[in-house]
Amino acid sequence: MTNYTGECLCGAVRYRIVAEAPKAMFLCHCTRCRKETGTLHGANVFFREGELTFERGEELLSRFALEGTRKKRWFCKTCGSPMPRQDDNGMIVLPAGSLDDGSTLTPNAHIFHDSRAEWADRAADAPRHSEYAG
Ligand SMILES: [Zn+2]
Ligand SMILES: [Zn+2]
Repeated sequence: MTNYTGECLCGAVRYRIVAEAPKAMFLCHCTRCRKETGTLHGANVFFREGELTFERGEELLSRFALEGTRKKRWFCKTCGSPMPRQDDNGMIVLPAGSLDDGSTLTPNAHIFHDSRAEWADRAADAPRHSEYAG
């Protein structure tokens, strides 16, 4: 079993997941994930089962389900950061960017790639700067 810990941007919500190795990690380019994150794609780690506990701030979580779809998200209602959730079937979905340490993760695939942002392919060619570059 491994511990996966992390928190939201404002730090009010902090979680711990105790689980076996993830079932998968997907970078999802669907329009819903792009709306949800405001960026190029979702980056979620899926655990078949495990224990998700909130070490602080659980009362600050908002839970949202998009009507008529399987799309759900839990997020900090103070800062809006997506937070992990556990579904009724036990599966845990973890937004990878919230982790303290993602060094063990490897994405398995880009999914819904045909729905990618119009500018996604051009992003690969942008220069890399080590810090902010105005
Ligand atoms: Zn927050
Ligand atoms: Zn998606």
